[in-house]
Amino acid sequence: MSYVITSACVDEKAADCVDACPVDCIHEGEDQYYIDPDVCIACGACETMCPVAAIYYIDDVPKEEEAYIEKAVQFFNNK
Ligand code: SF4
Repeated sequence: MSYVITSACVDEKAADCVDACPVDCIHEGEDQYYIDPDVCIACGACETMCPVAAIYYIDDVPKEEEAYIEKAVQFFNNK
């Protein structure tokens, strides 16, 4: 289980979430930050820190943002 960073992060990259994460699982990509789903402990700390409300619990990701779940998986697969 994991949290997911969605479209509001793209080209925003405020990065407040990175410092909030207790397990350092938020990594910088070219256009957005990504949460490593294998490491995230679903504590929710990042969600409250995000100034653009880009972060959702995986089960709460809006339909139009669901592509970002797979985008994160691909980012870590290609690392
Ligand atoms: Fe890190 Fe917690 Fe956010 Fe997961 S939910 S990315 S562990 S701050």
